[in-house]
Amino acid sequence: MHQDVQKLNIPKKNMTLISTPKKSVTCMVPYLFLILAALGCDNHPVKVEILTIDQKTKTLDLRVATVKSVQNIGKLEGRATRLRGGISMELDYIEEVARWHRVGTPVAFNAIKSNGILYPADFNSLAMVSVYYNIEQAMLFFESIGMIPGELGRLDTYYWADVLEINYDDYGAITREKGSNNAFYLALSQDDRGFYVMPFDLQDTQSAVDRVPLSMNPGVVTHEFAHAVFQHLVYDALPNGGKDLLPTPYNYLWALNEGIADIFAIALTGDNDFITASISNPGVQRNAAEFIEYDEFLDDHVQRAGDSFKNPYEIGSFISATVYEIARRFQPLPPNGPTRPALRARKVVAKITYDTLAVLVNYGADNFVPADFFSIFLTHPLIGPGRRQIVCDVLAERFKIHYDEVEGCQ
Ligand SMILES: [Zn+2]
Repeated sequence: MHQDVQKLNIPKKNMTLISTPKKSVTCMVPYLFLILAALGCDNHPVKVEILTIDQKTKTLDLRVATVKSVQNIGKLEGRATRLRGGISMELDYIEEVARWHRVGTPVAFNAIKSNGILYPADFNSLAMVSVYYNIEQAMLFFESIGMIPGELGRLDTYYWADVLEINYDDYGAITREKGSNNAFYLALSQDDRGFYVMPFDLQDTQSAVDRVPLSMNPGVVTHEFAHAVFQHLVYDALPNGGKDLLPTPYNYLWALNEGIADIFAIALTGDNDFITASISNPGVQRNAAEFIEYDEFLDDHVQRAGDSFKNPYEIGSFISATVYEIARRFQPLPPNGPTRPALRARKVVAKITYDTLAVLVNYGADNFVPADFFSIFLTHPLIGPGRRQIVCDVLAERFKIHYDEVEGCQ
């Protein structure tokens, strides 16, 4: 099941996903509940109860948080995102189109106000405001490391989205699967980009090992938000959104996309293993505290798979674990130990990573290999001689087979 969870996250090369009927989102909720009229529209910080992860137990917990960027709390619309409900669509990876059956309408957030705090009055309101909060936290984090407010354009969030995925399985048979307990980012076109939150069953997720729905996991949401950032900084800067790249550089870039998404998720949450609260067995090692060494099989998988490459997480996890260790040693912490780096060190590597992505295509993406990421990383103004030595030491331990290709470590 969780292989499928991963599947939709991917920016498939031969997937253009056009021919979406222009979505005219003009439908209004026929009437507003009185309580919404009382809540009104504002863009002041709002104190609200949300669902989030208890970091100690890795289970769901209720907490009062401050939502800062919302302009219309009754519809959960604001600078971070705009929630839409009731969409129904097919992602047809065979025909390479997205078909909208219902484009969705504004949602209605119901809450009871007590002592200045909004307590969601129903489960969907609680889940929706938690999603909004998680996206806002990701946005504010990126803004704190250099992203210009509004740079990504409007990102809608399709809540409780009915998504049917049509694809081939490994044997060439056509599969039709409804998405569930998944959250992903998808760029359908220049002005149709956003987050999709699939239905989830809280009873199931609470009783199973995978306790936290993906959209209630701040690390997962930050991971998805990072894909929106990568889309903007890298793919949008390439001719035809990068689709003209040869399979090998395309696959390496895709692996980088997954790796940096985990880097930012860990930088925000501080949790090197954020995924396991939601996916107990992600298939590939995603714990950034593991010592992951780059071996020739990783290159072999990329090069041999060509257009049918499906596992960007192997190299992605190498990249995120390497950058995590760099953050640890920047702090400084003893090499390869269990102590987590503090926010300050995590933000330094997040800032360098963000700026590296912003200039990556200037260095040429046609022959992109993972060594290029570290070569550009090393040119950052925040890397002085001491930090350069640290980065090169970590690469010498983990990236032996390509160490010579990293410019700046010789
Ligand atoms: Zn991803």
